[in-house]
Amino acid sequence: MVTAKLRPSQVLINETAIAHNVQHAIAGLPQGTELFAVVKADAYGHGLLRVARIAQAAGATGFCVAILDEALALRRAGFTLPILVLGIIEPEYAPIAAANHIVVPVGSSEWLTQALPGLTSGRELPPLHVHLALDTGMGRIGFRQVTALNEAIAVIRAHAAQVKVTGLFTHFSTADDPDPAYFKMQVTRFHEFLDALPERPRYVHVANSATSLWHAACDGNLVRFGVAMYGLNPSGRAIDATPYPLEPALTLTSTLSFVKQIEAGEAVSYGATYHAAKPEWIGTVPLGYADGWQRRLQGFHVLVNGTECEIVGRVCMDQFMIRLPGKVKTGTPVVLIGRSGDQEITLQDVADYAHTIHYEIACGLTERLPRVSV
Ligand code: PLP
Repeated sequence: MVTAKLRPSQVLINETAIAHNVQHAIAGLPQGTELFAVVKADAYGHGLLRVARIAQAAGATGFCVAILDEALALRRAGFTLPILVLGIIEPEYAPIAAANHIVVPVGSSEWLTQALPGLTSGRELPPLHVHLALDTGMGRIGFRQVTALNEAIAVIRAHAAQVKVTGLFTHFSTADDPDPAYFKMQVTRFHEFLDALPERPRYVHVANSATSLWHAACDGNLVRFGVAMYGLNPSGRAIDATPYPLEPALTLTSTLSFVKQIEAGEAVSYGATYHAAKPEWIGTVPLGYADGWQRRLQGFHVLVNGTECEIVGRVCMDQFMIRLPGKVKTGTPVVLIGRSGDQEITLQDVADYAHTIHYEIACGLTERLPRVSV
């Protein structure tokens, strides 16, 4: 996708906010517990390499990504800290992971059986480092029974030159839920696995942002710190209190590309779904659903000079229209996410209106929008 450098619509990334969030999180961790920055999906839309650099400088000792390609992008950019891929990779690519010192999860003996031939094919490869994934209730990836886990450990022991276990982890599905019942069930299952292990690997980890914020006493010596690094409350609005203030890092801005007055009864945008009730000033904002500003945001608002302006008519692929309080100059700044005067629109506000979560809005801002550090 072409990045629109010559258009005034931009995602501004506040580097200091990300650094503060990482530093606050690390300050609250018990001695010996590490923080890996979760930078998958282009760092939740904030820019992979930028966030990796900031997080490393702020004290992160490793990175988590979702896919092998993201791990390789970090290696190519020169990052040498440990990198853990969180999703199952194709077994045939295990040699690429090994050669690049990228750690991958193992959740079944079947995966090992498929990956081992590539790792034993005679090429000089360092052993593949793996973290054993346990499915304690997330229902996504991982061993579901202690017997299955022990079988896989036996396979790995028989191939010590090719595969080395350096971690064990699980993922909680309700750590951001005020009701702790399901979370507690997962913790119990995790301990059943832990108790059956002959020895603990170097890293044992269970914590995403929500777990690190609200279940700090949980087992483990590594936090996989994602959404809170970007200053977003993992629970949305469900749990207000956080042990330290989260500083949102992302602002989405543009400027008015066109301003006009329309007469009462005249329509705006595709489908002519909006008709002016009286003579109205209408501004055009140059970004649309191809930038991740969803079509369903019709009726929501943006900020112009600290005033809420309703999005009128359908959001188009590359532009949308707003009703202005009066005549405003072309080129006037428009804030879609962030502060203007004493008003603020948060990612959570946008997510609420779009009936989704802030993660999806942030990740959905496409590559066409340049990311600019501030
Ligand atoms: N760990 C795993 C396995 C994940 O899948 C994710 C994100 O989806 C995270 C950690 C980070 O979660 P969060 O962004 O809520 O901190």
